[in-house]
Amino acid sequence: MEEEIKTFKDLNKEVVERGICGKCGGCVSFCSAGELNALEMGKNEVPRYINEDNCLKCGICYIICPQTDTLNLELQEKFGWKPPIGDYQKITSAQTTNKDVKEICTDGGVVTSLLLYLLDRNLINGAIVSKKIGRFARKAIVARTPEEIIEAAGSTFSGSLHLEELGGKYTTYTPILSTVKSLEKSYLRDIAVVGTPCQINAIRKMQCLGIIPAHLIKYTVGLFCIENFSFDDVAKEKLEKKLDINLEDIVKLNIKDDFIISFTKGVTIHVPLGEVHEVARPACFACQDFSNEYADISVGGLGSPDGYTTTLIRTELGASVYDEALRKGYIQERTLEDAEESRLEKTKMLAKIVSFSRRKKMRAEKRLSELAGGEAIG
Ligand SMILES: Cc1cc2nc3c(=O)[nH]c(=O)nc-3n(C[C@H](O)[C@H](O)[C@H](O)COP(=O)(O)OP(=O)(O)OC[C@H]3O[C@@H](n4cnc5c(N)ncnc54)[C@H](O)[C@@H]3O)c2cc1C
Ligand code: SF4
Ligand code: SF4
Ligand code: SF4
Repeated sequence: MEEEIKTFKDLNKEVVERGICGKCGGCVSFCSAGELNALEMGKNEVPRYINEDNCLKCGICYIICPQTDTLNLELQEKFGWKPPIGDYQKITSAQTTNKDVKEICTDGGVVTSLLLYLLDRNLINGAIVSKKIGRFARKAIVARTPEEIIEAAGSTFSGSLHLEELGGKYTTYTPILSTVKSLEKSYLRDIAVVGTPCQINAIRKMQCLGIIPAHLIKYTVGLFCIENFSFDDVAKEKLEKKLDINLEDIVKLNIKDDFIISFTKGVTIHVPLGEVHEVARPACFACQDFSNEYADISVGGLGSPDGYTTTLIRTELGASVYDEALRKGYIQERTLEDAEESRLEKTKMLAKIVSFSRRKKMRAEKRLSELAGGEAIG
């Protein structure tokens, strides 16, 4: 008997109503009844039917949603996934050689430098990055020049705009999938994308299904991600009180072993991740992927000293980009004179990634089992 196609009705029941919708907008952007207006992002930025009669029951929304497990086996096979963190060829600590990038990047500036290399060599004609548009806000754009790529680097906050500009809503999550959709109407051909694990997962699913324009995405740089944050004025006040800080004074935010918050006047504090769980997005607690298991190259700060990006080179394509960017001097690897010390450092780096990945998978299993028991989140 043929398996019944799951549609938005099922997505709504299994993801939206359970409170694990990540608000990525993928289902709405890629709905095959797009012109018929079957779906829209509704209240609280979660998707809903505008008119169910317009639904073609194609199942695309269900399949590409990063919170469903469709195509997982196909992806695992395609990318040679193996436990505990997926396939990879090499792990390293690296940094940019570009002094402008070094000044503003989050960790070692590897992401920005790899994109600059790809653009300079005409291997891409654009990159989907998250441009800073306010102190806390970011917007996904297709960067077409080195300047635009560099502008998106880092996790520093611009001092020129204030929290109020966001209408009392603060988030560290940038929905990039509608920008992927917009490539359909552009003349661009070869694109790189920087994204969180959920975003890269949705793109990989689209590529598996041959959904246009996912074929234009030639390179994926995946960020490690323990969680993202989203909160309102009330939560902001609570957080400020709890941590005894003023969010307006933050100049840089980073996550490694813990939360690293840098303020004006050069003060930096480390906050345990558990202390900020109440402002994490509910969907993140049901998310299983920390190290961006299907990206060409995965990056984070975890395990590297300050000023370096921990880099997991996963696919052949990722290896060719990384090796060439290294050879042409866009990035440099951290080298320790003592080979044994260097090997030990890499082993520790990998152990941290594995530990965070396991923690995240266990947290997701717990959350999903709570949900199976009828508890709703969000
Ligand atoms: C929301 C979020 C959570 C993260 N969580 C962890 C973590 O738990 N542990 C860890 O080790 N590392 C985490 N990282 C990754 C880390 O902060 C650095 O982005 C990574 O190490 C690359 O550093 P870099 O200096 O090479 O990047 P840079 O050269 O500074 O470039 C950063 C790139 O990230 C993109 N970007 C910034 N914000 C977003 C966003 N919200 N969504 C999509 N793209 C974005 C920018 O467009 C830019 O291209 C997280 C990153 C983000 C954005
Ligand atoms: S038309 Fe397809 S993609 Fe759109 S809501 Fe219906 S099942 Fe989902
Ligand atoms: S996570 Fe994204 S694709 Fe899934 S239901 Fe929410 S908005 Fe749609
Ligand atoms: S934890 Fe990160 S990858 Fe997972 S849903 Fe949240 S933002 Fe996406």
